[in-house]
Amino acid sequence: MLSEKLKEAGVVGAGGAGFPTYVKADSKVEFVLANGAECEPLIHKDVELMKQFPAQIVSGMHLMMKATGAQRGFFGVKSKNTEAVEAIQAQVKSKPIELTLLGDFYPSGDEYELVYSATGRLIPPAGIPLQVGCVVNNVETLYNVNAASKGVPVTEKFVSVVGAVRQPKSFWVPIGTSFRELIELAGGATVSEYAAFVGGVMMGSLCEDLDGVVSKTTAGLIVLPHDHYLLVRRRRTEPEMNRIGKSACDQCSYCTEFCPRYLLGYEVMPHKVMRSLGFTLSGAEMWNQWSQLCCSCGLCTLYACPEDLFPREACDQGKRDQRAAGLQFVQRKPPQVHPMKDARRVPLSMLRRRLQLEEYESDAPFESVNCAPARVRIKLLQHAGKPAKPVVKRGDKVEKGALIGRVLAADLGANIHASVAGTVASVSDSAIEIVR
Ligand code: SF4
Ligand code: SF4
Repeated sequence: MLSEKLKEAGVVGAGGAGFPTYVKADSKVEFVLANGAECEPLIHKDVELMKQFPAQIVSGMHLMMKATGAQRGFFGVKSKNTEAVEAIQAQVKSKPIELTLLGDFYPSGDEYELVYSATGRLIPPAGIPLQVGCVVNNVETLYNVNAASKGVPVTEKFVSVVGAVRQPKSFWVPIGTSFRELIELAGGATVSEYAAFVGGVMMGSLCEDLDGVVSKTTAGLIVLPHDHYLLVRRRRTEPEMNRIGKSACDQCSYCTEFCPRYLLGYEVMPHKVMRSLGFTLSGAEMWNQWSQLCCSCGLCTLYACPEDLFPREACDQGKRDQRAAGLQFVQRKPPQVHPMKDARRVPLSMLRRRLQLEEYESDAPFESVNCAPARVRIKLLQHAGKPAKPVVKRGDKVEKGALIGRVLAADLGANIHASVAGTVASVSDSAIEIVR
């Protein structure tokens, strides 16, 4: 069975939260969707993957369709990426898969957006694609599905390294490789002081020390000078953001009017959540409920707000506070798409300009690099669910692809495999280190 092979091989969603793919393969749906939209500014690894490995990706899609009983597949890809479109088109000819051509907008790769674009269906508020007969897989996940069907576990990650580097490019690296080594493989940074966004400037995290390592969900690194606008904004502390928001928000509601979830018909209203910042003891919860259906896409903070405030962070805080208080907001009316949705979509070119990233936009062509790190640190939790349990000990010799961490049968999670051949140097509850 495919789901057993996926579980054994440790396949998880490569484009987001790392949800274990075997669970999706076990479901019964009408449609399988491939997500090749890739809308984080500057990251181009999915485009390169589709150009280089279309047969493997489409084969993975067929396998998922067979496993789930889906009669149709939709392949979401931006029409501007003509080489990727042609490569995929050549593989899906006269098969029950059709291309869903997307515009160059942010965030066209959001699951809710993609399901709506492909099928015209709206996922129920706080729901998942399965509830409208869909499963969605990132294109790299489908590549891994194809490999797992042949018994090959996930040991490598396809990444883009872009921004302030000499040779922006996309390449495969062993899982557990340090970010520092990734930047060296892209020719090194073009500036002396820098930091990197991991996974994207909109939804990724900021890494200042570069000792972080590649996991099964790392899309790539965006290297930027130390004093870049986006780094300065990201370094703000929560009390600072709250203080600024409380004093400067004029309730113009642009954050809500541009919110992609609000425009799809979900009850997300960041301008109302901003009101919660004015309350200290009680009262905030009334406004925080408008954050519950926010997907943290970052558009309100990084594009819509004319005052450079932090409505997305206010929503993140609102969701956290609601969870802690055991409160759950339920949207009672079915979502209805806003009549201005199409007119308010945000083109990537406008977003890059607003983020002061125009000078860094470039291709990130695929290159088969020789990445041979002396040491890898492989995390035991790279996915949604429980961490894998180590099945090796210090001093053990392992081959590339050997199982080193296993998920318990009753748990949601993913197996972990050695990404290089070598000796186990350390084992902890969080990671296993292997030296060559
Ligand atoms: S866009 Fe900015 S200023 Fe306007 S309501 Fe939202 S947070 Fe406040
Ligand atoms: S981050 Fe802002 S724009 Fe994005 S879904 Fe949340 S509230 Fe809407």
